[in-house]
Amino acid sequence: MSFQLTEEALDMRQATREFTEKRVYPNAEEWDAKGEIPEDVIKEAQELGFFSVLIPEKFGGLELEMLTYAVVIEELSAASAGLGITVSVNNSLCIEAINLFGGDAVREKYLPKIAEGWIGAYCLSEAGAGTDIMSIGATAVDKGDHYLLTGNKLWVTNAGFADVFIVFAKTDPSAGRKGLSAFVVEAKSEGLSLGKKENKLGIRCSDTREVILVDVKVPKENIIGAEGDGFKTAVGILNGGRIGVGAQAVGIGMAALNEALKYSQEREQFNQPISNFQAIQFKLADMATRLEASRMLVYRAAALKDSGEKFIHREASMAKLFASQSANYIANEALQIHGGYGYIKEYAVERYFRDARITEIYEGTTEAQLMVISRDLLRS
Ligand SMILES: Cc1cc2nc3c(=O)[nH]c(=O)nc-3n(C[C@H](O)[C@H](O)[C@H](O)COP(=O)(O)OP(=O)(O)OC[C@H]3O[C@@H](n4cnc5c(N)ncnc54)[C@H](O)[C@@H]3O)c2cc1C
Repeated sequence: MSFQLTEEALDMRQATREFTEKRVYPNAEEWDAKGEIPEDVIKEAQELGFFSVLIPEKFGGLELEMLTYAVVIEELSAASAGLGITVSVNNSLCIEAINLFGGDAVREKYLPKIAEGWIGAYCLSEAGAGTDIMSIGATAVDKGDHYLLTGNKLWVTNAGFADVFIVFAKTDPSAGRKGLSAFVVEAKSEGLSLGKKENKLGIRCSDTREVILVDVKVPKENIIGAEGDGFKTAVGILNGGRIGVGAQAVGIGMAALNEALKYSQEREQFNQPISNFQAIQFKLADMATRLEASRMLVYRAAALKDSGEKFIHREASMAKLFASQSANYIANEALQIHGGYGYIKEYAVERYFRDARITEIYEGTTEAQLMVISRDLLRS
């Protein structure tokens, strides 16, 4: 593959940087402290198309390549990882679920609405079903012209302001993988309520909540794919999702490295900048190398997806695994280079250190990625 970014990706990188420099970098610390992103910023990001990057043009979206999408998430996440995941969940978990796995009816019903400003969320996890998604307890009972959905979904990103939820529930609890189905559920549906906003370690400005469904009536046409396709859909969607989280990790790593480079040349000890010390120089070199390797893995997985390759789970998992571990390594070293100043909130590395942690947990933990990669290696 070519390692040159396309013109489309370079243009979007420029547009994203203009937005983040004006609207995000100066405010990210305040959003982190308050635990929210102002509504007008979300609206502006929607108007600029960031929330509809993966919607086909015919439904009102930008219809950009996955590689361009990765670049957008990287740039947004460098400025605010909380904003990065807000946009990423909307695109790679909600829009992609409808667009790649839904039929024409559900695509025509919801994609134009999301392009116009609706926001999406993704409800897979439950208290007893994290890595082991087949333990899902939510059920969908066929009532003729509709389904009745009941269950409690945990950790739902964007839940507080989402208009639609992709909900996974068992249509046949005795049928194993063939018994799981996915549905589009509107937030205003009777019987759907939200839990309190979680008070998190990092990505604090993103909105994470429980979603509770009690006999929620969902029209038959809102099923994504066929009944029993849910497991296939969940696994398929996560390929794109993992590229998004990998790109988020690259963004955090890039921001942490930039801060470390700057600080190491400003901070003086022993009458000279600490960047004169080889111990610091080697840290910077190691951080930059891991960052570039992460970026290449993320771009490679994205480019493979763009080429139409269907089976990219190994590449998507490798990208997410390495980029998330590297983001944690880089943020940790950036904090170390800041010494005591890195431990207080006046310096952005403290936030990057906290934000990096989640990239090893959601959309499949580090251990889950190792399982995917090793299974694939052994199978082939
Ligand atoms: C901030 C945040 C946002 C989130 N957003 C969403 C969202 O929008 N939608 C959604 O559906 N979910 C979301 N999640 C949930 C997230 O995807 C899960 O937390 C994650 O998949 C891990 O599940 P768990 O927390 O239940 O951990 P568990 O599955 O209980 O895992 C606990 C530990 O055991 C390890 N482990 C588990 N099984 C194995 C095994 N077979 N072999 C080796 N090790 C194993 C794990 O790797 C982990 O280290 C979010 C979570 C957080 C914290």
